[in-house]
Amino acid sequence: MQKYRNIGIKLTPQRLAVLEFLEGNKSHPSAEDIYRAVKNRYPMISLATVYNILETLKEKGLVQELNIDPSKKRFDPDTSSHHHLICMGCGKVIDISMDYSPHIPETAIQGFEVKRVHLELYGLCQDCREK
Ligand code: ZN
Ligand code: MN
Repeated sequence: MQKYRNIGIKLTPQRLAVLEFLEGNKSHPSAEDIYRAVKNRYPMISLATVYNILETLKEKGLVQELNIDPSKKRFDPDTSSHHHLICMGCGKVIDISMDYSPHIPETAIQGFEVKRVHLELYGLCQDCREK
């Protein structure tokens, strides 16, 4: 894969498989989800290897780790600043691509310089509401 040539990591077939699975993936998969998907093509891969690969990709800024699910970390190949809708029914995580930063009064943040805003909006997705 030409486009992955300059990312500064050695491209093993397993790393490439994880990168390819994550490319454009909007499902915010967990390490287990990624493992299951990649295992089809690389039956020898272990969950520990997937964790290691994700750690490397995170260090290189190619994926961001989301701590929105208390039971498992989720991973997002979209490292741009964006917000998330989290369904409390099915666990689905949906991007809010709109750039939205709430105004927080100066008195509330006590001189703190805000560098990044990440909103997590919890509720029920359309599918779960219709059930
Ligand atoms: Zn849902
Ligand atoms: Mn996202």
